[in-house]
Amino acid sequence: MVKWLLLFVGVASCAPLLAAQTSQAAAQNNPFFEEWKTPFGVPPFERIKEEHFVPAIKEGIAQQRREIDEIANSKKKPTFANTVEALDASGEQLDKVQAVFSNLMGAETNDQLQAIAREVSPMMSALRDDILLNEKLFARISEVWQQRLRSKLAPEQLRLVEETHKQFVRGGANLPAEKKQRLRKINEEMSLLSLKFGENMLKETNAYRLVIEKKEDLDGLPPNVVAAAADAAKAAKLEGKWVFTLQAPSIWPFLTYSKNRELRQQILTAYAQRGDNGNDRDNKEALVKIASLRAERAKIMGSPNHAAFVLEERMAKTPDQVYGLLNKLWTPALAVAKKEAADLQAMIKQEGGDFKLEAWDWRFYAERVKKARYDLDDSELRPYFKLENVREGAFYVANRLYGLTFIERTDIPKYHTEVKTFEVKDKDGSHLGVFLVDFHPRAGKRGGAWSSGYRSQRFKAGKDIRPIVVNVCNFTRATGDSPALLTLEETETLFHEFGHGLHSLLRRIHYGGLGGVPRDFVELPSQIMENWATAPEVMKIYAKHWKTGEVIPDSLITKIQKAEKFNQGFATVEYLAASLLDMDWHMLTEGTTVQATEFENRSLQKIGLLPEIIVRYRSPYFAHIFSGGYSAGYYSYIWSEVLDSDAFGAFKEKGLFDPATALSFRQNILEKGGTMEAMDMYKRFRGREPSVEFLLEKRGLNVPVN
Ligand SMILES: [Zn+2]
Repeated sequence: MVKWLLLFVGVASCAPLLAAQTSQAAAQNNPFFEEWKTPFGVPPFERIKEEHFVPAIKEGIAQQRREIDEIANSKKKPTFANTVEALDASGEQLDKVQAVFSNLMGAETNDQLQAIAREVSPMMSALRDDILLNEKLFARISEVWQQRLRSKLAPEQLRLVEETHKQFVRGGANLPAEKKQRLRKINEEMSLLSLKFGENMLKETNAYRLVIEKKEDLDGLPPNVVAAAADAAKAAKLEGKWVFTLQAPSIWPFLTYSKNRELRQQILTAYAQRGDNGNDRDNKEALVKIASLRAERAKIMGSPNHAAFVLEERMAKTPDQVYGLLNKLWTPALAVAKKEAADLQAMIKQEGGDFKLEAWDWRFYAERVKKARYDLDDSELRPYFKLENVREGAFYVANRLYGLTFIERTDIPKYHTEVKTFEVKDKDGSHLGVFLVDFHPRAGKRGGAWSSGYRSQRFKAGKDIRPIVVNVCNFTRATGDSPALLTLEETETLFHEFGHGLHSLLRRIHYGGLGGVPRDFVELPSQIMENWATAPEVMKIYAKHWKTGEVIPDSLITKIQKAEKFNQGFATVEYLAASLLDMDWHMLTEGTTVQATEFENRSLQKIGLLPEIIVRYRSPYFAHIFSGGYSAGYYSYIWSEVLDSDAFGAFKEKGLFDPATALSFRQNILEKGGTMEAMDMYKRFRGREPSVEFLLEKRGLNVPVN
C-alpha cells in the first residue's frame, strides 16, 4: 500500500559511506543520476543501458537508507510531517529507477536484465525488511498513530497514518527478534523463487514452436492466421513454412480453426505442460516451496494460512467469503458447461466424427456450434476491429465520459519502436498525464496484458506530479498488406487495460502511499470499460471495416449480442477452477508437505472439473499467483465483476454517457486511489452495496439448475 512496498519486489546491503563513494564514479553518464529534460520527464530510454541499473539501484537504496535513518534518529518529537509524511516521500530516486527496471523486465527483458533482477532482488527484499523492521522508526510511527485522533489531521493524512502503521504491523514490526530474523530469510528466498518462476515460464513459452511444412496441415485456418504463421516462419529463418507458438495470437486461433486434430492436441499439450517437463525450467519445486514459505510466514504473523493473512486487507476479508462467492457461481457454471460439452459432442457426431470430445477439441467445435447457431464467425468480425480504430474507440469513450483528449506525440522517448506515445489532456485542456501503448508480442515480453506506470501521480511540495502510464498487451500483429485486426476478445482486453490506465491517469491524491486499492477492487475500473467496447452505439463509432470504411452493420451487432452468453459455461468454469486452485494452495498450513501435481489434481477433482476443460492456469505456469501479486487473489476478477456489472447498471439506468453518473464515477472511484475504504467509495457512487444479480444475468448463469 505504501508506494515503496508496492513498487519493490524485494532491497540493499552496502554501507551508506561506501555507496556514496562508488556512486560518484558510476554516476558519470548514467541517466538515472540526472534530472530528465525529456518531454514530461519521460525516461530517456535511448540513453538507458543495462549497466546503468545496478549502480542506480544501489545508490537509490543508499539514499533511501539515509532518509530513513534521518527520520528514525530524529531528536524531534514525532509528528505526522516529520515521520509519516517524510517516510512517504522517501525513496524517490529508487522509485525512479525501479519503475523503469520493473517495466522493462515485463515488456522487453533479456538475459542481462534477468541477471540484474537476480542480483538486486535480495537487496530490495532486505531494504523493505530493514524499513518495516526498523524499531526506532516503528516507535515513532506508533506514537503518531496513537495520537492520530487528537492531531487535527485531514482525512487523507489520517488514512496515511493508519495505513502506514498497519503496513509495519503486517510487515512484522511487532514480532520478537528471532521471528523477525526468520521473516527476513523467508522474504529473501521468496523474492528469488518468484523471479525464477517467471523466468522459467518465459523460457518454456519461447522454447516451443509448431512448424508446419505441408499446406494441407493448415486446413481450416483463416488467411490472416496463415499469413501471421508465414511471417513467424520467415522471422525464424524457415521461409516457406509456417510457425505457430504458444503466444496468445498464435495458439488460440490455431485451436479455434485448425481441422488437424493431432496438431491441436500437440500444441495444447505443449501449452499445458509448460513448467512441468522435468527439465531445468520445471517450476513444480519452486511453487511448492513458495506456497510453504507463505504458509510459514502466515503462521509467524499469527494467521492460520496465507489466504487468511492477505484477505484481511481485501474487500472479501476472509477465505469463507471468497469460497462462498466462488462456490455460489461454480454450481450453475458447471451445469452450463456440461450442457455446452453435450452440444459440442453432438456437433462432432453431426459432422461424422466418432470420438469423444477432448480439451483440444473444445474451441474448435465451440466455433462450429457458434457458426451454426448464430451464423457468427470470429474472422468475420476482425476486419471491423482494426487495432488503431479500437484504440480510437477507447479514446472516444474517455472523451465522452470525462472530456479527455489523447494527442499522439512523436517527440516522447520510447523503449521500443512499436510503442506509441500520447499526451492526455483533461476537459479544461490542462495536462493530465502521458500514456504509452505497447500492443504486440515479442520474445522478451511476458504473456497476458497489463497496465502499469513509469511514474505515479502524487503531490510533491504542493505540486501535482502527473503520471506516466503504460498499457502492455500481446495482440495480433499486422501481416502482409493487412493491418493488425483484433478479435472481439482482444478488443475487450484493449478497453480493459485502458480502464486501468484511466484509473492511474485520473488519480488525484496527495500521498503516493495511498495509491493502491485492494486487489479485489482494482478490476472494477478496468472491467467496467469492457461494457462500452461492445455497446452498439460505441461500436458504430469505432468499428469500421479497415478496407471500405463501412460501419459495422446492425445485423453483425445483433449477432454479437445474441452470441454474448455463448460458451460462458466454459469460460466461467476454467476461470473459477483456477481461482479455487489458487485459494487451495494458500489454505495450506505450515509444515504440510505436498507434491505439486497430486495437490493440483486433488483440488480440481474435488470440484468435479470436466476432463474436457483445462484449468485456465495449471500451477506450473500460474504466474499471477507464483510470480505476480495475485496470491489468494485470482478470485478478484469475478469479485470485481460483481462490482462492475452492478456499477455499469447505473449507466444503463441513466444513459451510457450520462454526465452526472460519469462525474460521480470519476470523483468517487477513479480519482480517489486508496484514500478511502473500497466499499465506502463504491457506496458513494452507487448509493448502496453491490448485488450479485447483475453478474449472474450478464453471464447467463441465472437459469435455474436442477
Ligand atoms: Zn485487469
